[in-house]
Amino acid sequence: MPDMISLEEARALVLSQVEALPVETVSILDAVGRVAAADLRSDIDISPFAHSAMDGFAVRADDLAAASEDAAVELDVIAEVAAGETYDGPMASGQCVRIMTGAPVPDDADAVVKYEVVGVVSGDGKPGSRVSFSHPAQPRANIREAGEEAKAGEVIVEAGEVISTAGVGFLAGCGILDVPIYRRPRVAVAAIGSELVNPDELPTAGKIRNSNSYALAACVQAAGGVPTILPIVEDTHEALAQVVREATCDYDFVITSGGASNGDFDFIKPVVEDLGELLMTTVNMRPGKAQTFGIVQGTPVFGLPGNPAAAYVGFEMIIRPALRKMQGYTHFERPRVVAKLSRDVKKNDPRRIFLRSTLYKNDEGDYVVAPAKNQSSGLFGVIQRSNCMAIMPEGLESRSAGSLIECVLLDVAEESSL
Ligand code: AMP
Ligand code: MG
Repeated sequence: MPDMISLEEARALVLSQVEALPVETVSILDAVGRVAAADLRSDIDISPFAHSAMDGFAVRADDLAAASEDAAVELDVIAEVAAGETYDGPMASGQCVRIMTGAPVPDDADAVVKYEVVGVVSGDGKPGSRVSFSHPAQPRANIREAGEEAKAGEVIVEAGEVISTAGVGFLAGCGILDVPIYRRPRVAVAAIGSELVNPDELPTAGKIRNSNSYALAACVQAAGGVPTILPIVEDTHEALAQVVREATCDYDFVITSGGASNGDFDFIKPVVEDLGELLMTTVNMRPGKAQTFGIVQGTPVFGLPGNPAAAYVGFEMIIRPALRKMQGYTHFERPRVVAKLSRDVKKNDPRRIFLRSTLYKNDEGDYVVAPAKNQSSGLFGVIQRSNCMAIMPEGLESRSAGSLIECVLLDVAEESSL
């Protein structure tokens, strides 16, 4: 196992160890944002019949070919058809049918003219009236054709597509109320650290609240997974080994935070090595160099660092793609934007650095990125107030204000093309 690997290698390694989970069937309302696991087909033509896009009169376009402002053409209104009804009778030359939006176009009609441009010569425009037209009508004008959106039997959503809110309407229209999708991963989240107390407690001397488990559970949820926060784990080999042994039986993916470095009380690496196969320990990034990954009892175990920002960035950059792959997603990169740095940034660490930052547009419409002053890896609040991470590549090249830098957006879906 190499000592330190690049972020790309780390991501590829973890992705290579996970697969899409089994398929389950869920209601279309629960399928929003999730990946269709099979091709979905319409049972009928959508729409099932040619219908009017306007309230107006169904006509024969030929009848109006010579119509003009000076020589209006008059037609007899012989019937009326509302949405939900049909008019199955004939419509001879010289006749028209009053029609409402959504109503089937009579067989003998081939265009619809909207009310607003039709004059009433006698009557009230209803059957028995005579109406006049002062413009020709294009054949098929204001008609929505049968099968315009989908043909019976045609694939309307392909396997692998992410189902959108509009897609739910599309599916409903095609008679599909339940869809096969990849099951959400069940993810255990365990904080390791003898200094930790639960957030509902007031920490006594030397103790701090466990904030990581909550942030990571939120991250799991945002990635489509189902998190379970396990009890805090003491900094002992035995305590951690028991938790990892049990969690790898009960869950699809196990995440720990803390105890990932080389200190006297850091046990995630030896525990994964003892119980399974240790595949990675160190990634060339900051914050969060100490990223442990391995397989125990066939289940991926990821040991994030304890520092909140380091745990967060490790999740974002490496674990999130894996949880997405388990749900059938194929896009793993959050959108990126190139922006002008708002200030000088000195680089005195050769690792790739993710600067928690705020991206905005200035008055000229250019993207500007302002890295937070305090880049301590111990802080969640700075990330709460950030909307991106500016990326300082590997090496020692400092950057000056105004130079261009790539930023990865936070909380924006991988699928969005910005
Ligand atoms: P470690 O990776 O265990 O050396 O922890 C690094 C730093 O992160 C220490 O200051 C820990 O107290 C802190 N830390 C570890 N776990 C958590 C947690 N679950 N919530 C908040 N801070 C933590
Ligand atoms: Mg610790």
